[in-house]
This record gives sequence, structure tokens and C-alpha cells, in this order.
Amino acid sequence: MKNVIVVGYGGMGSWHVDYIKKSDVVKLLGIYDINPMRTEIARKNGILAYDSLDEALDDARADIILIATPNDVHKEIAVYAMNKGKNVISEKPVTLSSADLSEMIAASEKTGKLFTVHQNRRWDNDYLAVKQIFESGVLGNIFNIESRVHGSRGIPGDWRGKKEFGGGMMLDWGVHIIDQVLMMVPGKIKQVFARFDHITNYEVDDGFKLELIFENDLRTFFEVGTSNFISLPRWYMQGENGTAMLEDFSCKGKIVCVENWDEKDVIPVKTAAGLTKTMAPRKDDSIVTHEIPQIDADVHDFYRNVVKAIDKIEPQLITHSQLMRVMKVMEAAFESDRLSTVLSVDL
Ligand code: NAD
Repeated sequence: MKNVIVVGYGGMGSWHVDYIKKSDVVKLLGIYDINPMRTEIARKNGILAYDSLDEALDDARADIILIATPNDVHKEIAVYAMNKGKNVISEKPVTLSSADLSEMIAASEKTGKLFTVHQNRRWDNDYLAVKQIFESGVLGNIFNIESRVHGSRGIPGDWRGKKEFGGGMMLDWGVHIIDQVLMMVPGKIKQVFARFDHITNYEVDDGFKLELIFENDLRTFFEVGTSNFISLPRWYMQGENGTAMLEDFSCKGKIVCVENWDEKDVIPVKTAAGLTKTMAPRKDDSIVTHEIPQIDADVHDFYRNVVKAIDKIEPQLITHSQLMRVMKVMEAAFESDRLSTVLSVDL
């Protein structure tokens, strides 16, 4: 068992506290929060709460510092903790820029301490189902993948709406959905085009649309929206032989594949301006429908891997180079939006 101190006992810090309590590989030592009200709440909850970051980092029993503060201070706390001899898990987004991330990686290399990020959505069942469909070949050659998360409440009214704290939906949700697809699709990205939304917030993005084109011409499209009163499907994936669609995080959806290309007697559908066979739905005898694979992932595997990586039993799953690639994709997206242009990249 490794001992963990959670720094930042807010929404996600509390989630980690509860989750560590159920873990078979890590144990909660205590928390540190800069806000005395959070310290008091922790103590009322029977949790050891340190009075300063130094007091927490000087606790020789601590093996891992888990950082769940707003995004702007991940770097300074991570680098400081590694220099004090602690292994570090940062919440996502790891930090705000690739330059900052380089400093964090350098601190890990200098100190020999593990440094990784809680990219927990690699264990989401909807993502793992899509990855399984992608890898199974059932759709034939895949040429388009669309990943969306939609809400209708605007950007949250906390630090997420402020630039100085590293707010904005690209850093909040974009980092997850880009990481997922980069872990699924092999090969390099050659083009990036992004447009950011400012519907409820001008300071940071409250959503975006992003297209990444891979070197084999596979197109991937990402959308985070916070002004979507009707949600589009969470996933939509097209191959030359079929299409998969997952409606939401619960994995409701279907896979429809062609069974018979020589379809006879297509019944046209009526459109406003006449009949069309091109857009007519296929008849049942020319297609086959498959269920979405049902996955039951265990997100505790994240901490299990961290502990084994500290003990040098297995490599860390969420690596520095993966983190850097996602960060560079996000930077390219911001640059594409700023210049209103498609960027040629080699990522
Ligand atoms: P929050 O505002 O609820 O909590 C942040 C806490 O950090 C607050 O209690 C605040 O007082 C404390 N804090 C601020 N600066 C500090 C400092 N310098 N030292 C110590 N404590 C400090 O925010 P949240 O929603 O819990 O988000 C925290 C982090 O978790 C963010 O990086 C966010 O992106 C991440 N997060 C990840 C997921 C996920 O699925 N992986 C989900 C939600 C949030």
C-alpha cells in the first residue's frame, strides 16, 4: 500500500478521497487545501488535514501527492513536491502549456520520481466500447470518427470561467476526449482546424469544434458544447462497411453494417423537392445490426498501475510523451482558432 496526500480538497479532491478509501493499493494519509474552510470540512469528516503544503510534503510517510487544485497551480505544486522527494499524480489537464509540461517532466527526470496524470477517461466504458469496435475491423476501413460532449448550462461559474486559473472547456473536457482518440488511432496528425465558442463566456472558451486529420487521411472531429439543448450522439464512427453510433455515456447505440451491396428495388423517399434513392434508408435485408460491446472497466486500474510503476514492476500507463502530444494538439487548436486557418502539423 502506498500513502497518498490529496492537495486540493474540492470537488475532485473529495472524489479522490472517497475513491482512495476503496482502493486495494493506496491509502489516504490526509489532505491539504489552501482554503481553511475546506480544511475544517476535512477535519469534520475525520480526515487528517495539514496546515501547509510544506507540512504535508514533509510527512515522511507520504509516497504520492495527488494534485486536485485548479489548473494554474498544478505545475508549481508538482515540481515542488517532486523536488521534496514525492511521487506526483496531477489531475488533468496536466498544466497550461507544453513549456510548463517540459519543466514538470524535467523535474521527474532529475528527481527520479514518478510523475503522471489522472486521465481517468481512458477507463470510460463508452470509449472502450468504441475502441473495441475500431480495433475489431467490423466497420471495414474507418475514415471518420466524431466524439462529442454536449450540455446546456454554459461553462461552470467557478474558476473554470477564468483564464488566470486555466479555465475553458478545451482544458477541461477537450483534454479528455483528445487523449482518448490519440490512444485509439495509430499514426501522426497532419492537420488541425479549430473554432472556439464564446457564447456564455468571453474570457475563455465555453466549447469548441476541432478537426484533426491523420496522415492516412482518417478524419477525427471533436466537439465540446455547453449551449446544446439537444445533444448529438457521444460517438459516431464511419467505416467503408458500416457505421457505429453511441448515444451517450451509457453505451446505448448500435452498429449497422452492410450485408449485401447488390441492393435491388430501392424505395425512394420523398423530399421537399422530389424523390431520392441516394438518401433512402436501406432495407433490412441489405444490412446487419450489431450490439455495442458492453464493457465493465475498473478505473482503480489507474492507481494499481501507478503503484506498480513506482515499484518499477510495470511502466506507467499515462506517459510523458502522451501528455506532451495532447498538450501540443491543444496548443495547435488554439493557434488554428487565433489564425482562423488549417494548421499543417507533424504530431
Ligand atoms: P474545485 O474548485 O472544486 O476544488 C479545487 C480545490 O483546490 C479547492 O478546494 C481550492 O480551495 C483548492 N486549492 C486552490 N488552490 C490551491 C493551492 N494552491 N493549494 C492547495 N489547494 C488549493 O475544483 P475541482 O472541480 O475539484 O477541480 C480540481 C482539479 O481536478 C482540476 O484540475 C480539474 O480539471 C480536475 N478535475 C478532473 C476530473 C476528472 O474527471 N479527471 C473531474 C473534475 C475535475
